[in-house]
Amino acid sequence: MANSGSQNWCEAVNKDGKPCGGYRLVGSEYCSAHDPENKAAMAEARRLGGITTGQRIALRVLEESAFEGATVGSVGDLLVETINQVRTGKIDIRVANAVGYLSNILIRARETADLELRLEKLETTLEEMRKDHRAAA
Ligand SMILES: [Zn+2]
Repeated sequence: MANSGSQNWCEAVNKDGKPCGGYRLVGSEYCSAHDPENKAAMAEARRLGGITTGQRIALRVLEESAFEGATVGSVGDLLVETINQVRTGKIDIRVANAVGYLSNILIRARETADLELRLEKLETTLEEMRKDHRAAA
């Protein structure tokens, strides 16, 4: 009854006796929640308490790769890494969506800060030119 021969679904059976129904991780017979390699991260998540499956997976991702975020290039690296993690089933699509969304905000915040800095320099230059002009008159 479980899994009806599909190669894509998790082998685990839930407490109610029904198949898990989660997508298998690449190279595993289980989903991210049931994969034995995830057990340590899950135990840690349970210890912390009240953590959802998505957050549990995010926790694992955070443990594996802390994001420095110092440059726009590093955001690009993060996005490429996230794309590959989604394609290989290493992270939940919800985590990838959150990474994409937050990266977008981060890039826009940087662009705004950069524009403000350039505007401030222009205003300073303009003020100095006015002073010089008044002094020369
Ligand atoms: Zn499962």
